[in-house]
Order: sequence, then C-alpha cells, then structure tokens
Amino acid sequence: AVHYKHTQVKTTCPYCGVGCGLAIECETKSNHAQSGQLETEVREIKSLNGDQSHPANFGKLCVKGSHLLETLDSLSSELPSNTEHLKLSTVNDVNKRLLKPKVNNEDASWDDALHLMSEKIKSCLSNYGPESVAFYLSGQLLTEDYYVANKLMKGFIGSANVDTNSRLCMSSAVAAYKRAFGADAVPCCYEDLEHTELLVLVGSNAAWTHPVLFQRMQQAIAKDTKRKLLVIDPRKTATSQSADLHLAIKPGTDTWLFNGLLHFLIEHKACDYKYIQDNTQGFNEVVKACENYTLESVASTCELDRLDLLRFYTWFAESKSTISFYSMGVNQSTSGVDKANAIINCHLASGKIGKKGSGPFSITGQPNAMGGREVGGLANMLAAHMDIENPEHQELVKTFWEAPNIVRKNGQKAVDMFDDVLSGKIKFIWIMGTNPVVSMPNRRKVEAALAHCETVVVSDLVQHNDTLAFADIKLPATGWSEKNGTVTNSERRISRQRGLLSPTGNAKHDWQIICELAAKLGFKNAFNFTHPHQIFVEHARLSAYHNGGKRCFNLSGLTNLTEQQYDALTPVQWPVILPESILPESVSPESSLPASSAKLGLKNDQGTTNTFLGTERLFTDNKFYTSNQKAIFIAVCAQLPYQRTTSHYPYVLNSGRMRDQWHTMTRTGKAQKLVEHSEQAELFINPKDAAKHGLRNGEYVTLMSESNAHIQDASKQVLANTSVTSKTKPSPAILPIKISQELRKGELFVPIHWSKSNTSHVDIASLYSSANDPISGQPELKHAAVNIKKI
Ligand code: SF4
Repeated sequence: AVHYKHTQVKTTCPYCGVGCGLAIECETKSNHAQSGQLETEVREIKSLNGDQSHPANFGKLCVKGSHLLETLDSLSSELPSNTEHLKLSTVNDVNKRLLKPKVNNEDASWDDALHLMSEKIKSCLSNYGPESVAFYLSGQLLTEDYYVANKLMKGFIGSANVDTNSRLCMSSAVAAYKRAFGADAVPCCYEDLEHTELLVLVGSNAAWTHPVLFQRMQQAIAKDTKRKLLVIDPRKTATSQSADLHLAIKPGTDTWLFNGLLHFLIEHKACDYKYIQDNTQGFNEVVKACENYTLESVASTCELDRLDLLRFYTWFAESKSTISFYSMGVNQSTSGVDKANAIINCHLASGKIGKKGSGPFSITGQPNAMGGREVGGLANMLAAHMDIENPEHQELVKTFWEAPNIVRKNGQKAVDMFDDVLSGKIKFIWIMGTNPVVSMPNRRKVEAALAHCETVVVSDLVQHNDTLAFADIKLPATGWSEKNGTVTNSERRISRQRGLLSPTGNAKHDWQIICELAAKLGFKNAFNFTHPHQIFVEHARLSAYHNGGKRCFNLSGLTNLTEQQYDALTPVQWPVILPESILPESVSPESSLPASSAKLGLKNDQGTTNTFLGTERLFTDNKFYTSNQKAIFIAVCAQLPYQRTTSHYPYVLNSGRMRDQWHTMTRTGKAQKLVEHSEQAELFINPKDAAKHGLRNGEYVTLMSESNAHIQDASKQVLANTSVTSKTKPSPAILPIKISQELRKGELFVPIHWSKSNTSHVDIASLYSSANDPISGQPELKHAAVNIKKI
C-alpha cells in the first residue's frame, strides 16, 4: 500500500546574513508490503515559502530565497547552453555536483581519501610541525561544522592556522567591537531598525544585499515620516534612491566623515557627558584626535557638499535614537577597524547604544559568519569567543576539550595563510566550502600558492570551480537541503538549518568528514559525534564553562538540550543565559526572568513549551566586557586606501554584489530567473569617462591594475612551472561596459560573481592587491586603482 504524508519543515535561507526563515512543504510517499512492513519512503519537496513565525523575516523572502528550489539538482530546470562570446557558459556543466571523493582526479573511496589525508598530515607534523597544516573555511558552513574543524586544529593537531572567507567579510567589525567593548558583541537587533529616528547606512547597498531587512526598514520609515534614512555610499544605488539624504562620499574617506561627526558633537555640546563619565574611558584622547576634523576640512576631503554634511551632523546630534548600519563598504579596507571604531565612538559619545533604536550595527554578508566567530573560526580566536593568546582561555579550553595540543599563539589570517602556502611553510591546506581563487585578492598569488602546495584538499558541492582545479583530493560535501545544524544571523539569532533530502551521491556532511579524519589521526574519543545535536551541546557547554558572566558569548540556557529539543529549537538570540534553577526541565515564572531578555518558546519532549531566553539588545545595563566594564573610545587617525590612483591607473575600482546573484554563482547560477537579472559581468562607468574613451554601451575594455600587471617574483617562478591558466604574463580582465549615472566620475564598479569558471575573461580578483588591515587582516576589496583600454 502507498501512503502520502504532508509535512512542513522549517529551515533557514543559505544566502545572506539576514538569516530568513523558510517553511518548506514536503510530501513523503511510503510503500508498505502486505505485511505492513515499510519498503520504501521517498520525500519530495513541493514548495517553499517564507516562515511567518521567524523573527528575521516574518514570512518575507527576497528573489534569491524565493528561487532556492530551482537551484537543487532534483528540481532545477535545464538552462539553455549559451556560447555567445563572454556570456555565461553553460552553467549546468559548471555546477554539476561532485558525487564521489577523487584523488588526483580519479574516483576514490572515502576511506582511501581520508587515509591519504591523515598520512599527509602526520608526515607534515613529524617533518615540519603543526604550522605546516592549515584549514580555510567558509561562512557557508554550519556552526557544528566550524566547531569540530576548530577543535581538531586548535586542540589536537596543534595549529591555529584556521581561517575563513569571513575574514574577507566582517573581521574588521569584529576587531572594532573587541577594541571598544572588550568582546565581539553586536549591540543591536533587527527590531531596533523599526524604532530608530535616524537610520544611517554606511557602505551598504542593503536593498540588494540584505533585501528583506531593507524592506523592513522601508516599512518602518513609511509608518512614521519623522524617521529619516541617510545613505553614505560613493555610488547611487537602489538603497540610496530611498534615502532622505545620500552622501556620495569619496571612496575610502569614511574615517574623516565620522571623526568630523565626533568633532561636531563636541563643538556643539551634543555629547552625553553623563554617559561618557559613567560608562566609558579614553574620551579625552579622542577629543584631541579629532580636533582638526572641522566641517570644512571634512567636506573637502570627502568631496561632499558642506550643507549636506551639516544636515547629516545636525540630524545625528538632534535625533533621540540613531542606528549606524554598516557593511562591506566599511569593513573591506586597509583601515576598516579604524573606520568601524570611528562610527562606534560617535555612538558612545552621544550615549546612543544599549537603548531601543540605537547603536552601531554591523551586518554580515554570509549566512553563518557569526556562527563561525562563535566557535573560533578565525586564526586569532579559540572557541566560544575566547582568545588564543589569553593564557586563562587556553587553559580553560584545553581542560574542557582534554586537548593534547592546545594552541598557544595565533595562526595566519587569510592573506598571510596563502603567503605561507606560497613560501612552502604551509604544506597541507584543506579548503572547505569556498572558492578563494576567485574571492581572495591577488588571484595569481593564490593560484601560485595552491599550485606550489604539497597537498591541497577541497571539499565542495560541485565538480568544477576555480579552486577545485588545484585540488589533489576532492571531497563531495552536502549542501543546503541536505545539511542539518545551526546558523547565526547578523542580530545574534541562532536558527536551525534542517536537512530535507538525503545527501546526493556519496556526499557527506562537513562535520562528519572532519570527525572521520580526526579518528584516523588517533583522536576518535574527542570526535565521537554521530549527530549535530551532540556537537551543539558541547559548544553550548564550552561557552558556559567557568563563564560567570565574564564572557559575552554564553549559551548556558541551551546546555541541556535533548536531541528532540534541538530538532525543535526555535530561533533564539545569544546570549541565552538561564539561572541554574531554570533549566529546560524546571521553568520558573516569567516574572523572575531578567528584564532585558525576550521570551522564546521551545517544545520539550512532552510537547509543552519551555521558556528560553534570548537577549534582544546588549549593553542595556551599560556594562561592557572590558576589565572595568567601561566601553573604550579609540582615537583613530584617518588613512587613505593602499592603492591610490596615478596618471597610469587613474580610476578607482569598487566591487560588490548584484541583486540576484550570490558569491561565485555555483548555486544562483542554476536558476534561470536569477540569471536573467544580469546575464553577464559588466563594468559600470560614468558617462563622462565613457565619452573620454569613446566607449558605447556593450563595448569591451581591458582592465589593469598594478596587481595584475606586475606579478611578484615568487609567484612568477611557481606559475612558470605549472599548467595554471593565468601564467606569468599580465592578464587583464575583459568586460563590456555599462554606462551609468550611478557612478561618480573617475570611479568604476564591477560585480564580484563572475570568474574564469563561469566566463572566459573575467578575473576581478587579480585586480586587487593583498593589502589588508593591519589589525583585522581584512583585504581592501573595495578600492583598486586601475586603467581601462577599449578593445
Ligand atoms: Fe535569503 Fe538574505 Fe534574501 Fe533573506 S534576504 S531570503 S536570507 S538572501
């Protein structure tokens, strides 16, 4: 007999840091023998909608989220092959799933592939030491994947060389929070965006990059016309079109702008001196540091109209509440940390933090950049937001993990990690769920590094991409719809991503692959996980271990989750702190719970709802995570970007996302509807600049910078002996132009998504230098100096 059962599975969108909830309707078809025994059971996904109950999106989805089902192999439709010059190649060929492990491009069993990896690692450890091994992870991984990768490397292999593509996304925001608050603690929540008088968007095209959140902002503004939206961005964008005021700032001058704002607040006695006195330190130093940032000098440096600037400063000074919402335009800079601290300084000086509708609010690009931070997914972090170079933290994690080889010093951040691969210091690198050949700056250096490396392992969904071309060992990993675990969005909200379908082919979950490798390395007992629930609970327990309120990241309220409770977990914002008496089995009356916490529901084994607490906004008690609990003003001196324009390279090149594409398009490139919005990479150029070069829409140009014109000697030598396509000659990017009034004169914009795997000539990563922020290590991916030539 055949039975059909309809179920709804709630999960999370795998794209941006908004972290929208999805409700997926599934139908399970069961075949039973005459004896009643179940013979087969097939689940089919029927439809996808936004989850009405998810607090990040309340049922709304953007176009990328809405078309997710078209990106699944079993549901995707064939795209027509497109052989036109420079247009997308046949995306289906590019994106075919990797179904089996491969060693040197030959099919291999999981056992053989993992055995080979363990032998290579053991050989590295005995011949060169733990620093010769590295993992490069991804903001696409789930928290559970990240946790075991960090545990294996930082506690057992004994190297801190674990970094992630999140380094390219938000590491400057992390470093700035730590400098100011003593912890990587995002102060705000999405609800604050609906309660603010003044919403300042800095370096963010949220209408395209975080669309559901932007709609929420627009709705709040529409409800109350006294609310204002101000956008600071060199480009006119879909976001700036909605703004009450758009400051088309000269690229790279954000620190001038915010030091000038602080100067203005001081000059006009618009600071909250009681707040400063009671809750902060270092104010006198910043007063001195920003004394020369007058309105006139800032207007001139930032190339802004003086009256527009005055309007911004007056709005900020007079508003009762302000949110400064910032993203990659601030972070991706050689002075990204200083820029973020310049923003935070203005909030501390005006007391606009820790209150409803106020605070500095960094937004992540990826779905789980936050989760990666929580478990120590950066080379300078340990786990549960603890620091590698803090002896107390080292001992605590060592004891908790019973780790034989706890790390004592920081590892290499992304750019330095690939430098060490190139120099031969790192001999084994495992890249999981990311495509650094396309996303890292200075592509040919990354290519040379991977070509030079003794062992490159890449885990991915797909058979081919620019990075997989360098892999000695390829491992098929599961992807969205198959994976099961948790992610954390930009407002610290942990949500479940649930498995809907079985793994494709022989693909395995990332956490499973890592645990199986750990067993082969002799660490089976510490990695004996059989379900992500066990990993999550260990992660929660570590966050609560000897915490006592000293550390911000704390999941003490989730330490006793059962597997059923984990499966039923509803979205919750960390910290999730429960008094010891209020564990899931015994819930106290709501009135006894801390006032700053929100009530959240969780079904227990018996189907009744327990009360769990998440924390909507931080610092409502004005206590920070520094040694004296005071926030710290950071005096910052404005710096220009690293690559400056010259007569030979006269244009500033900016880069970013298109509305309907995601990263290197391995998923979004499969959905015809998404491809239609922008079918090819285009170089956006101001009409006056186009006229100067005699260019018309659609005509092709070459794009060169110092970085792709002059390849470094070390890279040149390595590349000369390999078969990589870039070789050692200057390799211009070739793109058609799109004339656009959105660009300032002298500035260009190019989308980040296209690469050599999905077109033949678009090589954006080579144009950007490896220059990065000295504190965060985040590369300057928004500012290259380039020239263009008509073909
Ligand atoms: Fe997904 Fe972001 Fe769109 Fe939400 S806004 S549906 S998380 S891409």
